Amino acid sequence: MTKQTLSFQAEVAQLLHLVTHSLYSNREIFLRELVSNASDACDKLRFEALNNAALYEDAPALDVRVTLDKAARTLTITDNGIGLSQQEAIDNLGTIAKSGTREFMGKLSGEQKADAQLIGQFGVGFYSGFIVADKITVESRRAGAPHSDGVRWVSGGTGDFEVEAIERAQRGTSVILHLRDDASDYLDAWTVKGVIGKYSDHISLPILMEKQEWKAGENDQPGEMVKTGEWETVNQANALWSRPKKDITAEQYQDFYKQIALDHENPLAWSHNRVEGSTEYTQLLYIPGKAPHDLYQRDKVAGVKLYVKRVFIMDDAEALMPGYLRFVKGVVDSADLPLNVSRELLQESRDVKAIREGCTKRVLGMLEDLAKHDAPAVDADGVTDVPSDEDKAKAGQYGKFYAEFGAVLKEGLTEDFANRDRLAKLLRYASTTSDTVSVSLADYKARMKAGQTAIYYITADNLAAAKNSPQLEVFRKKGIEVLLMTDRVDEWALNYLNEFDGTPLQSVAKGAVDLGELQDEAEKKAAEDAAEAFKPVLAKLKEALKDKAQDVRVTTRLVDSPACLVVQDGGISTQLARMLKQAGQQAPEVKPTLEVNAEHALVKKLDGSVNFHDLAHILFDQALLAEGGMPTDPAAYVKRVNALLV
Ligand code: ADP
Repeated sequence: MTKQTLSFQAEVAQLLHLVTHSLYSNREIFLRELVSNASDACDKLRFEALNNAALYEDAPALDVRVTLDKAARTLTITDNGIGLSQQEAIDNLGTIAKSGTREFMGKLSGEQKADAQLIGQFGVGFYSGFIVADKITVESRRAGAPHSDGVRWVSGGTGDFEVEAIERAQRGTSVILHLRDDASDYLDAWTVKGVIGKYSDHISLPILMEKQEWKAGENDQPGEMVKTGEWETVNQANALWSRPKKDITAEQYQDFYKQIALDHENPLAWSHNRVEGSTEYTQLLYIPGKAPHDLYQRDKVAGVKLYVKRVFIMDDAEALMPGYLRFVKGVVDSADLPLNVSRELLQESRDVKAIREGCTKRVLGMLEDLAKHDAPAVDADGVTDVPSDEDKAKAGQYGKFYAEFGAVLKEGLTEDFANRDRLAKLLRYASTTSDTVSVSLADYKARMKAGQTAIYYITADNLAAAKNSPQLEVFRKKGIEVLLMTDRVDEWALNYLNEFDGTPLQSVAKGAVDLGELQDEAEKKAAEDAAEAFKPVLAKLKEALKDKAQDVRVTTRLVDSPACLVVQDGGISTQLARMLKQAGQQAPEVKPTLEVNAEHALVKKLDGSVNFHDLAHILFDQALLAEGGMPTDPAAYVKRVNALLV
């Protein structure tokens, strides 16, 4: 074949024009693309050689070599893979065959700015070399072909390319990039090594570079780096997750976690699976033992890295994991996604959706497993099982996880309706019978009193405030357990969880208490009588507090305290309103209901008191203080109390 000049397919020319003329914000990706092509070429050879071992010629070890030549200003990527025949060079490097790229071309508008955006989305494989090169020479010979059947392909990245036959002893392909003046950084070995490490550590093939040594200058001449003639592997050449599970030790899993999570502690759990079916991928997911400092930052990056066929694509692929599992670290390696997938495409991809659902299920499964082994299991007959070795190994792990990430997990109630039931089972709270955050809703249900129809809870700023809340008094007296919720997210999250396993959740600080069958007839009668007798005082109280309280009523929920505040069922609590205000957000004005304990000495004193107005306001302000709030006019409150003291 004599030298011939051929024109690019019109689409390719258009594409090249875009590549060279748009400001590519992320130009180092050309190395990822070309190394990935080289790796693919080796994979193809390996595959074809399964039936024809002669294709290996006498060099069965496959690798990719990257060489730099400062004098010639070239960066060369050489593989000893399948190679290109002369016709293949013309076809594959002159036209666009892939449908994905066709789609890209179809979307081209001809308008520079919009099209430059598209390039970023679709990537352009081989042609991305022209981001840094003003001329690319490809020299290749197909595996198994005679040496005389080599091909040289040269193009300046404009309308056409030249091809000619060459003699080539070495099998495979060299892509020689003649670097542009503004791309000199890619002549620097450190820079190139860094980029290779970033994108190709987990390519299973070794990527080699020529070793360099510092040679001191003589006679006051500056020293320089010189090539030693030896080769060194610059990537890890080890995709842990692509190896069979049985070949990987626990220590290797842990080391890999530490490397990707930048954590020095071991993870609590991991899960490694190859998922087959309509979407094929490998997942290796870890649950860390410690929350990162930026867990609650809005722009916090997700912890799962996306690979496509062992080539690194992106670090913080939010689309792979729901927000409430953002603490999970690991790798997803897809066999189906295109190498040049963008964030925008990830959001839309059906494959990604399937991966996300699969990963979510895996993580919930890991958490369920930790939870199961966290505490010794108790049989229905109340006998504690003998802990198994697995129980012993995992004891306390779920508690540790929950202390770090429980509040984040709760966000899942608000965003993942499909998994709400599984999430609800993973919730843990402190309660009036347990100071540690260890009570599950199922535990609570199992301990419910005969006749109890709701799971009772209270939300407060902290455990002490929750425990001492006057609203709990009647529950404590009757021995009814109440869950104590102190995470900021609790109240919001519970808006999305009205019931658990058929039993409604009921705040003890919202609405009127109705203990139903838990109150006996005598108690009900006594309460009604007290309310009746108290009616005239109640009317006066309502009048005195009409600016502060929505309503005033007699309650049976108090035992030791004179009064407490409650909000309407379904309304937001005074704490939440306070929290929202502190966070500078709009909060609806909450006008609570004052409930008074007609049996209390202070309340009894109200009737006929000359200080009625002051006492009424003290009652209200104290109820507010008791739940961690602040009287609207603290000075007036102090004055009133002092007047009484004197
Ligand atoms: P893609 O890799 O997505 O198909 P590219 O533009 O990167 O698109 O490459 C076009 C084609 O050129 C490849 O499909 C392959 O057939 C061929 N090719 C590219 N690089 C090499 C290489 N190093 N060895 C053999 N063939 C290659």
